[in-house]
Amino acid sequence: MNMHPLRNPRPAPVVALCQPVHATDGVDAGRPLSSIIRERMRLADKRFHANDNISGFIQAGELEQLLEEVEAKMQDVLDSLVIDTEHDHNTRGTARRVAKMYLNEVFKGRYLPQPAITEFPNAERLNELMIVGPIAVRSACSHHFCPVIGKLWIGVLPNQNTTVIGLSKYARLAEWVMGRPQIQEEAVVQLADLIQSKTLPDGLAIVMEASHFCMGWRGVKDMNSKMVNSVMRGAFLTEMTLRREFLALLPK
Ligand SMILES: [Zn+2]
Repeated sequence: MNMHPLRNPRPAPVVALCQPVHATDGVDAGRPLSSIIRERMRLADKRFHANDNISGFIQAGELEQLLEEVEAKMQDVLDSLVIDTEHDHNTRGTARRVAKMYLNEVFKGRYLPQPAITEFPNAERLNELMIVGPIAVRSACSHHFCPVIGKLWIGVLPNQNTTVIGLSKYARLAEWVMGRPQIQEEAVVQLADLIQSKTLPDGLAIVMEASHFCMGWRGVKDMNSKMVNSVMRGAFLTEMTLRREFLALLPK
């Protein structure tokens, strides 16, 4: 049983449990910030898997504090790997560099809110197949935290009531979703759900092709294999000609 009660030395009235959990509360002194954030998410009954965005549960100024916690624990990992980071000039700042890379760069899609996307009414009444891509994919697999590098294409079939977003916004949404430890199959579904909810098109298709470095660097050590997967929604599921048209327009 995994229980994480508020640690309060004084008997607290029940209402105290319903109040927001602040990192600065005296009762939380010395407690890792990550534990406080996890508790907030449990109280809100929200999932915090590797590919979930948790920005709504991080308060202003806390990301820097979280970075320090990750740095300290990364230093523990280096110590356990028996690397002399004190005398080895190459690894002296590695704990901090890795912590910054995770929180501020490669996994920032977990910690930052969704990029602002302006939606416009479909004034031109576009109803032709539109393809955006290739959009660069930079991600990492949840299994090994190894890079997943590739590209994706998005096919949209708008209708008169569809909202329209600028072409560059598709890339920003993709970057946000891919900027988390991901599983390729789940990543394309997350991206499709997001674009679907923003634009409500008649049809939506996403194809992603990526190299998983966990297959080249370790494991089967196959440097050339690529994983391709796709998600088709609406008209792309029901109209074979539309689906064929989309797939035919993708570069081989
Ligand atoms: Zn992997």
